[in-house]
Formats: sequence, structure tokens, C-alpha cells
Amino acid sequence: MRLRFAPSPTGPLHIGGVRTALYNFLLARKEGGTFILRIEDTDQTRYVPGAEEYILEALRWCGLKPDEGPGFGGAYGPYRQSERKALYTAYAEELVARGKAYYAFDTPEELQAKREDFQKQGLPNFKYGAAVRMQMRNSLSLPANEVQELLDAGTPYTLRLKVDPGSEVLIRDRIRGEVRFKTEELDDKVLLKADGMPTYHLANVVDDHLMKITHVIRGEEWLSSTAHHVLLYQAFGWEEQMPEFAHLPLILKPTGKGKLSKRDGTKLGIPVFPLSWEGSTPEESFKGFREFGFDPRAVVNFLAFLGWNPGTEQEIFSLEELVQAFSIEKIGKSGARFDYDKALWFNQQYIQASDNAYLAEQIRPILKEHGHEPPQEWLEKFCGLLKERVSLYPDFWEQGKYLLEPVREYDSKTLRKKWKPERLPLFLEMTASLEALPDFTATAIEQAVKAFAERQQLKPGEVFPFLRIALTGTTRGPGIFEVMELLGKEESISRLKTALPAFQEFV
Ligand code: GLU
Repeated sequence: MRLRFAPSPTGPLHIGGVRTALYNFLLARKEGGTFILRIEDTDQTRYVPGAEEYILEALRWCGLKPDEGPGFGGAYGPYRQSERKALYTAYAEELVARGKAYYAFDTPEELQAKREDFQKQGLPNFKYGAAVRMQMRNSLSLPANEVQELLDAGTPYTLRLKVDPGSEVLIRDRIRGEVRFKTEELDDKVLLKADGMPTYHLANVVDDHLMKITHVIRGEEWLSSTAHHVLLYQAFGWEEQMPEFAHLPLILKPTGKGKLSKRDGTKLGIPVFPLSWEGSTPEESFKGFREFGFDPRAVVNFLAFLGWNPGTEQEIFSLEELVQAFSIEKIGKSGARFDYDKALWFNQQYIQASDNAYLAEQIRPILKEHGHEPPQEWLEKFCGLLKERVSLYPDFWEQGKYLLEPVREYDSKTLRKKWKPERLPLFLEMTASLEALPDFTATAIEQAVKAFAERQQLKPGEVFPFLRIALTGTTRGPGIFEVMELLGKEESISRLKTALPAFQEFV
């Protein structure tokens, strides 16, 4: 099996593109096949600098390494279509020779005039096809000598596929079943443009053939092009080697209504691209899953489920497990809702299951941005303490910054309601007993605090919240004794000594 991911570098690769790459990758791996990356960059007008690098980086980040492709080697290169231009011209000419394509000399102005003409007459949209082609200026309608003259004079032309009316194109889609198109409905697609560059259709089919692609897995939006692709395979006489097609369901907005778009990301403040993108204006720029603080393994797991499911209850799949479980048969037909909360849930699961050393590596840069570079051992404990409570990597900072920076605010609401000023001496006494601990470990601290509460006949609810507020500012957070151990004796005691007297002012 040979599968390809064939993005066009017309901008940053959206999450749907990554899903297409992932499904191709999974199937190739599962079947011991080959995963090929092909850059479809023949449309010079839509080329966006940096887009190819973005695609490569997104695939690398997700761990989807191509077996063949630009920079990856392979026996069927070059893998960038702009480097294969001469080849397409030769194949296009072959179609002319076979009577399957023709030269069209109509200028853009003439075509525009025709379109307007149709509109004025209230006719359906102008379509360059069997019904009108003999009224146009092309090598089928003009006498042979005139055609030769035009060609000799270097008149610009496009090359069009001759679609014969009166038959039906049958696509056997592995996901959608049989899809049929009447040839009358299909136009004579341009194959070569006036600048000599191939269109997507020609380049895509020629390359799929030459690169011996066996399965084309791509987004649903390409289904209607497939009719022309099948006609091209027939025109070339390549039906025998035609790849199998599978068109993936749409990815829908979080509401489930309509296709997920780039604007949804901006509107909802959620990532819909794998990585950040620096556009030429701030409006064009955005943050990706990576920069939001997702783990790539979680993103891959989340994406796998956008259109596929294993048919069991299992949700957490490593890439290896996905490879084992994946099959085209389990890809759905209907649109898959982009559920951001589910993405967060996956990330949470991956963070909780990661070991502390791994997590430390992930959050080190985030802490550094905030001016903190704690030692490895401390950082690992920090991660261990917080990992049950976070969804995204930056949450470690948000949830745990009090472990690295002084507490700036105390939970005034709780203090106002519950702090009993007359208890200050008791709490200072407890502080003193903590200060006297030889080993400032969570267990020792816990014993000391509990002994104190018992001695003073205080309920846990009368002690712990104030301990917490004094040390962290709030009443919520991970185990307070672990927090204290991590803060260390000196810092914990100093915080208590500052905070407890300050509590008096809140009452
Ligand atoms: N270049 C097309 C794209 O950008 C490829 C579609 C296909 O896979 O045939 O998605």
C-alpha cells in the first residue's frame, strides 16, 4: 500500500489537514505500506512563503514522519510538484494525441463576456463543456490549419479535458459507497493553464499514478473532483491502476452546525491549527494547539477520533495502538464535531499519565518565561504535585505560581467570614512547633499540624483553610503538606509569620 498526504502550501495547515495526514499515516503503518508527502505547489498565485515549513513542522510535532517526500528521500521524486513541471506538459500532450484533450484559445476576457452573456439571458451558469465547446475557440471547433497558425504564432492557450456527454462516472468510495456523476454535469476541466503550469487535477492524477499510489484518503471537499480524476485515469488508459478513494467526513464547528473554520478559532479563543502562525497582520495571526500547551500525543489521539472510532469504549490510544486499531471501515460518513472540551480532556489524561521528568521538560520553558529556573528535582516534584489538576501545560504555572513567587493576595472572603482574631496566638504557636521540626517532610508536617489541632480541640475546618490561605493565598490546591515540603521550611515559616498577623486586618 502506498498512501500520500498532498497538501498545497497555500497557508498554514489546518487541523483537518493534520487529520488527513494522520489517517494516511495510520493506514500505511498498519498495512506495512509507505506514507508519502507530496507538496502540491503548482498554483503560483496562491503560494504562501513559510507554508511548506509549517506543514513539515506540524507533521514532525505530531510524530507523522513520511517515508518519502521532500527532504525524506524516496525513489519517486521529486516530491514537490513545481519541480515536475515538464512531466505534466508531456502527459497533457499525450492526452491531446489520444483525442482526450484539446487546446482552447479563448482569452480570459472572452470567457468573462460569455459568462455575462449567459447571465443576461437568464441561463444557468456558463460551463465550458460539451454543450458549448463548439461555439468557443478551440482545436475542436476551429479548422486544423487555423489551430496550427495559432499555435505557431505562440498564442496562449489552455489545455482542456474533453468530457463526452451521455455516460456516468462511478466512484466506489470506501467510505461513501457508490457515488455517481452524469458526464453532462461535468465541465471540460482545464488541465494546463496558459502559463504552462498544470492544474491540481492533472498534476494530482499524474503524480498519484507515477508514485504508484494505491489509496487516496482525503477530505470530503475533493469528492466532486474525483469524477474528473476518474475520467483522467480512463483517458490515460490507467484504470487498472486507479487508486481506491476514501473521502473523510467534514469537521464541524463545536456547535455541530457547519464546517469548522479558521474564524471559529478566533471567535471562540480556541486553537484550530496545530501550530502558531505569524500572519502579515495581527488578525491573520493565531496560536496553535502546541502554543496553547497541548501535548502532541493528546492532539493525535483527539484527531484520530474526529471521524473514526474503534467501536469499543477505549479512548486513550498511543500512536502505536492507533496503528493497530485503525481501519477505513470504522471511519464515519457524517460530520465530526470539533469538541474542544474533549481535546482538553485528552490532554488532561496524557498529562496525568506522564512521568514527572517528562512533564518537567515540557514546562521548563514556560517557567523560564516567567523568570524561574528551578532545579530538576524540585521541578519534578512540582509537576507531580500539580499534574492531577491541570489540562494544559501553562496551567502548571497558573495553578502553581505561588510555589515560585510570594503570595500577593489572600482569600479575603473566607477570612472575613471565618478567621477568629483571638486564635492568632494559637496559630503562631503552631508555627513555632513547625519551625522546630528537624525534618520538614510532608509526613512530619502533617503529624505536627494534626497534633496541634487535637491539643487545641480544633476541627480540621478550623485549621486547614487558614494554613492554606497563609501559604498559597487560596483555599484550593494540592495537598497542603506536600506544598509546604516543596516550599521548604524557611519559606513556609516566613509565609506563616507574615500572613497570620495580616489576617487580623480582614475581620
Ligand atoms: N493539494 C490538495 C490539497 O491541498 C490535495 C487533495 C488531494 O489529496 O487530492 O488538499
